[in-house]
Amino acid sequence: MSVIQTVGIVGSGTMGNGIAQACATSGLKVVMVDIAQEAIDKAMKTISGSLDRLIKKEKISEADKEAALARITASTSYEAFKQADIVIEAATENEPVKLKILKQLDDMLAPDVILASNTSSISITKLAASTQRADRFIGMHFFNPVPMMALVELIRGLQTSDATHDAVRQLATDLGKTPITVKNAPGFVVNRLLVPMINEAFFVLAEGLATPEEIDEGMKLGCNHPIGPLALADLVGLDVCLAVMDVYFEGFADSKYRACPLLREMVEAGWLGRKTGRGVYTY
Ligand code: NAD
Repeated sequence: MSVIQTVGIVGSGTMGNGIAQACATSGLKVVMVDIAQEAIDKAMKTISGSLDRLIKKEKISEADKEAALARITASTSYEAFKQADIVIEAATENEPVKLKILKQLDDMLAPDVILASNTSSISITKLAASTQRADRFIGMHFFNPVPMMALVELIRGLQTSDATHDAVRQLATDLGKTPITVKNAPGFVVNRLLVPMINEAFFVLAEGLATPEEIDEGMKLGCNHPIGPLALADLVGLDVCLAVMDVYFEGFADSKYRACPLLREMVEAGWLGRKTGRGVYTY
């Protein structure tokens, strides 16, 4: 069993509420903080709805749901983190926003509290160095939707201690997840492989080698992927895929991460995927 009993979470958006649910259904106490009360209200509704679906599938009972919800405290004040053994930052993907949050947390939390970030693209080493507890800082990268996805990528910054890594690895296991431990580099490991593949699918499309449907069908049936790369781009958001490629291009200073011009042009057109009703496909 992990020594971590109470998990603090900053941000109650897509990832924050998923992490809260995963922790609460695993028997941990959760303190979730967001700057926006509406975001908290929405998160509690999302968690309740998600637990209802698990009841329908007979994975949990009504009593399990009530017990999980009772373990979650939500607040708009970081003061609520007083009891937390770890705080996982899952706020908006914006470096100045994250640095400000980390400074506030670092100043107020007891020295032994571990800080983790769920960032997809910001250097863990850099975020760690902005605090006075760089050895007690780690990347804890969950996948969306958190309650369903088995993987947690643990990213060791240059300064992350073995004790911090081991405690957080145990936490991930206690959540029923399978952790992999990786070093800090742009995109870490999973997105480093995934996003260039999506980008290559746009090159294949731009070269007219096949239709979008055929490209996606090819990867589904030929590689056993549950979804084709272009349909996945629509789901993730073309703007997000483009931003990630640009981070790799800059971070590695390597032209092999050049974003496909077609991807960039579609983003310029406002064709961002499902969220705008049009991406590679029309919704
Ligand atoms: P989101 O926009 O759904 O939620 C972010 C939340 O953070 C919002 O509710 C916002 O009100 C809150 N927030 C902003 N500033 C805050 C502050 N100062 N204090 C407290 N709360 C604050 O974003 P998301 O998709 O949940 O992403 C969160 C993080 O997880 C990002 O770093 C992102 O890169 C990462 N991530 C996202 C995914 C994904 O598929 N969405 C997957 C893995 C990792």
